[in-house]
Amino acid sequence: MKQRTAFEEDFARVGQWIEEYLDDPGRYPVLPSVQPGEIAAALPDRAPEEAEPFERIMADFERIIVPGVTHWNHPRFFAYFATSAAPAAIAAEALSAALDVKVMLWRTSPSAAELESVVMRWLGRLLGVSDSWTGIIYDTASVAGFTALAAARESLGLDVREAGMSGRDLPVLRVYATAQTHSHIEKAAIALGIGRRNVVAVACDDAFRMDPKALQRAIDQDRRSGMQPLAIVATVGTTSTTSIDPVPAIAAVAERERVWLHVDAAYAGVAAMLPEFRNLLDGVDRADSLVVNPHKWLFTPMDLSVLFLRDEATVRRAFALVPEYLTTGDGDVRNYMDYGIQLGRRFRALKLWFVLRSMGAREIRERLRSHIALAQAFATWIDADPSWEVTAPHPLSLVCFRYHPRGVGDEDRLEQLNAQLLDAVNATGEMFISHTKLDGKYVLRMAIGNLRTQRSDVEAAWSILQREAAELPR
Ligand code: PLP
Repeated sequence: MKQRTAFEEDFARVGQWIEEYLDDPGRYPVLPSVQPGEIAAALPDRAPEEAEPFERIMADFERIIVPGVTHWNHPRFFAYFATSAAPAAIAAEALSAALDVKVMLWRTSPSAAELESVVMRWLGRLLGVSDSWTGIIYDTASVAGFTALAAARESLGLDVREAGMSGRDLPVLRVYATAQTHSHIEKAAIALGIGRRNVVAVACDDAFRMDPKALQRAIDQDRRSGMQPLAIVATVGTTSTTSIDPVPAIAAVAERERVWLHVDAAYAGVAAMLPEFRNLLDGVDRADSLVVNPHKWLFTPMDLSVLFLRDEATVRRAFALVPEYLTTGDGDVRNYMDYGIQLGRRFRALKLWFVLRSMGAREIRERLRSHIALAQAFATWIDADPSWEVTAPHPLSLVCFRYHPRGVGDEDRLEQLNAQLLDAVNATGEMFISHTKLDGKYVLRMAIGNLRTQRSDVEAAWSILQREAAELPR
């Protein structure tokens, strides 16, 4: 019999580790109890001069690294937006690493380039995005959002691409968002020379949704002051509460004002796969760009974010730049390096292809439905207990809530109690939640989105919250 090579042995070892890990990630504390600096201190100061055996590296992975891991795979990870990966997609990541192609020119890997186009069409069709739009994969929604705003800036015809912004007599450029918009839009404004101050926080209604009338007023006022509207950012599923901006009414403003409309559906967009949530993306066909993150709620390992573009040429106009050493005679092909700041790109489409095929749309829909149902059940338990309150509408799989014992009316005291509760709950290692502030009020967030989360985990979380709340110092 042929002897296994060292690589086969090592890879089998890794495969076995992953298998055991994913079989029961709940056996680890979800949030590790390490102190800052503890992991770094356990590692040598310098890289080794001589090669070390795989076995020893793997042993240190288990001994030093794993104890400091926050287990996003844990079924009681309810913080931020809970995520997890289909096992087949983890295997696809290994294949992608093995091929190690750089998806920049079509010829630097025709399969990667063409699979990306095909998988983007599949995803678009699952979500109801028009076939006339183009999907491009980026690492994160932050980079996709930055790219969309760069395209919006280029489409103003101010020649920023060639002449830059400094030392020129340009109008002040304005981006319209809300206080609920994810912070990456402000970062994009920083990077694009727009400035944080020019990201206008349009007023929201009491369900944290952008008020289109306030948007119109903000644009009118800016135009009167000689400012130039650059883009409107609407969010379908905001980070704090999953509130859904009224995209059709916002699109009407964007059309009237001829302003780029970017829709950030990084988290919630995938729910449009469900017929009962199809209307989540209503109005998006009138936008210019849309971001959806399979690495959030589509069981795809970090990192894979999709930017759908009504007109892909706008992004190419902003970014395409071909040095001599990258020219080809390949003709009418898509060279993905033309769509952003990155040259070499990972073969990310492969893992999404594995997710969509290994789960199938039917199972994906069932999982999404089950997460939404679990969140709705959790909200009813909170609602039914007079010592607790739900603090925002919860259309999807996230619930914002807080502990509000009878007789405590002082907001500072409530914040203190809930911050203490958050720390106490997370210190148990049994579950992990995060927080936000809504209208200045400190609230807790329970996000459900992990493949391994069962009803029993959500029930356990509710018991832990009640237990730890009862033990808070009065
Ligand atoms: N947009 C929304 C609505 C988000 O909730 C997040 C992250 O949670 C982002 C964008 C940023 O995502 P990424 O980490 O892919 O940049």
